[in-house]
Amino acid sequence: MAYTAKEDRYSKMKYNRCGRSGLKLSALSLGLWHNFGSCDNYDNMVAMVTTAFDLGITHFDLANNYGPYPGSAEENFGKIMKHEMAPYRDEIIVSTKAGYGMWDGPYGDHGSRKYLIASLDQSLKRMGLEYVDIFYHHRPDPETPMEETASALAHIVKSGKALYAGVSNYNAEQTKRMSEIMREMGVPLLIHQPRYNMFERQIENGLQTVLEHEGIGSISFCPLAQGLLTNKYIHGIPEGSRATKSKFLTADRIKPELIEKVVKLNAIAEGRGQTLAQMALAWNLRGGKLTSVLIGASRPSQIEENVKALENSEFTAEELEAIDAALAD
Ligand code: NDP
Repeated sequence: MAYTAKEDRYSKMKYNRCGRSGLKLSALSLGLWHNFGSCDNYDNMVAMVTTAFDLGITHFDLANNYGPYPGSAEENFGKIMKHEMAPYRDEIIVSTKAGYGMWDGPYGDHGSRKYLIASLDQSLKRMGLEYVDIFYHHRPDPETPMEETASALAHIVKSGKALYAGVSNYNAEQTKRMSEIMREMGVPLLIHQPRYNMFERQIENGLQTVLEHEGIGSISFCPLAQGLLTNKYIHGIPEGSRATKSKFLTADRIKPELIEKVVKLNAIAEGRGQTLAQMALAWNLRGGKLTSVLIGASRPSQIEENVKALENSEFTAEELEAIDAALAD
């Protein structure tokens, strides 16, 4: 039987305005980078997407290359949209991206107009959608003039294939320039997608100031450092965890020094009545600087746990100091 969304789905989630735009995003969003590929369990994917939506998560983030194989996450999401979520298309924000290597030859990577427009056409076909809500340039391309990438994004928005445009992994200076160029083209940059978590705080060194000044929203990726900022690796590497199966989180990163920090952070989280995952997400949300926090999950129960971060997303000065001290040791 096709899915019917829960009636109370909007009762607990917060919705934050994305920069100076008209668009609001759920404070937590769900990313489909891992666990939505051709090798993954389809029923589990459906359960994750519908659980998220029932909890008020309205934003689902993809990219052309998510899989494996590259493109299969978009295919699976397209299947879920068609069979389960079709009645809710106007309640959902779908994003996708292009910027990393996707197909052979000189036109399947980086930031040319040729690549971006062809890639979005492919993504739309894979997802069976007429448009995406947000289309991102996935990473800066130093070899393509920024004006060309910007004009491709502006063209995509004006053609209606995406409603808004964003960038990801751009530094402060690149973001400022891109924002200025796009504003001149009449398509303001909606959002930036940077990496941000308690271990990786580079956006605090200038990017956040640019985003505030330019009125650009932000959505952080890897807020749990791919699972390191949870209690799951404290007693070793559990079977089936990302560190056992992804080239993006290899077991050699999980060193005793890192786990010592995690243990300290876990104790602070317990003192707040939260799991470490919840505290790590609350920490991202603190002070309302980010529009949304982009979580990943391998099962619905993680999404249920993580959404509860919203019940306590403010910190005392002492708690923030204790977190900084735990990270600094
Ligand atoms: P997270 O840092 O949130 O890590 C998610 C992983 O942590 C899960 O898959 C799961 O791994 C584990 N986890 C989640 N919740 C819990 C919990 N409560 N308890 C224990 N373990 C938990 O995010 P991701 O690294 O998945 O990135 C999120 C999204 O960000 C991506 O899907 C993508 O959309 C986007 N992204 C964008 C990038 C870009 O360049 N723009 C780059 C990377 C990501 P496990 O399998 O071990 O259970």
